[in-house]
Amino acid sequence: MALPQSFKAMVVSETAEKTFVRAIKQRALSDLPAGELIIEVKYSSLNYKDALSATGNKGVTRKFPHTPGIDAAGVVVDSTTKSFAVGDQVIVTGFDLGVNTAGGFGQYISVLSGWAVKLAQGLTSKDSMGYGTAGFTSALCIMRLMASGLSKDSGEVLVTGATGGVGSVAVAILAKLGFNVVAATGKTSEQDFLSGLGAKAIISREEANDTSGRPLQKARWAGVIDTVGGNILATALKTAKYGGLVAACGNAMSAELNVNVFPFILRGVSLLGVDSVEVPMRARMMAWQKLAGEWKIDLSSIVTEVSLEELNPKIDEILKGGIRGRVVVDLNG
Ligand code: NDP
Repeated sequence: MALPQSFKAMVVSETAEKTFVRAIKQRALSDLPAGELIIEVKYSSLNYKDALSATGNKGVTRKFPHTPGIDAAGVVVDSTTKSFAVGDQVIVTGFDLGVNTAGGFGQYISVLSGWAVKLAQGLTSKDSMGYGTAGFTSALCIMRLMASGLSKDSGEVLVTGATGGVGSVAVAILAKLGFNVVAATGKTSEQDFLSGLGAKAIISREEANDTSGRPLQKARWAGVIDTVGGNILATALKTAKYGGLVAACGNAMSAELNVNVFPFILRGVSLLGVDSVEVPMRARMMAWQKLAGEWKIDLSSIVTEVSLEELNPKIDEILKGGIRGRVVVDLNG
């Protein structure tokens, strides 16, 4: 297959004044790192981590100029391994994509074959990016909670940061599975959105953020998916029921966790860490199978679609916690 010499991509550059600028440019295919697969990217999506990379956060991306995009779905156009053939539809999330390897905000990527999974039957490339890393992480959280014993009869399940990418997909999947979902949000205007996804009750961010300093609070949650960290995660632990299961995957509020051991030693609460970047292939495949099959949700109210040229303002918006649901990036054309 004849490959183009250059392609369109968002390029983030560092200026002499140590500021970061974003522009849509042509990049040479020869700029991409050596990899086993070259993939023509059809769709990508915006995640919180992309916004950190796109604004020069050196904890995420060390070297600039750089093309962010931790998610990509597209077609293999060159392969040096037997595991993937030219024409295969694939999804790449996590590992180093979009971190220090040119990512999905460009029309081509070059990656190791171990980073790719074949597009699960039942999903289009666009659907897969409707979920993206955020939705994939929601599935990993739910898998972890259920493997630890959470069932729809266990009681209420709290989702924090509920209008965000991870949160909104988690609310919708849990509701589809029959769980009694309570959504915690800072966006009072999005009650209808959350009810529409299946949340049975909605609480404010303030209610989910206990500042009394007491080590334990009235027990309520059988399960929690926490996407924000900080004092909201601490509050979730203090308000989990006896034997409650708390999956922690995010730090949109804070990376700090100030909590004592009482939820663990007096209520047998478990804190379950969830990572989507290095998660082993078996769990990776299982999560995508679930998202394509029995856990498949209607993404239409969750997804906003933009072109690469329209992506820029969304990056600033997600950093302010202002995005509702997921942003899919169309790389076609
Ligand atoms: P989004 O920005 O889409 O959603 C985060 C949501 O958190 C916001 O929409 C908002 O929801 C809430 N929020 C934002 N700022 C604050 C704040 N200061 N205090 C309290 N709540 C806040 O991000 P994603 O859903 O994509 O990601 C969520 C988190 O999960 C991020 O920290 C991200 O880095 C992490 N993550 C981790 C992964 C892993 O592998 N462990 C994978 C994917 C994401 P609302 O207004 O409804 O309260």
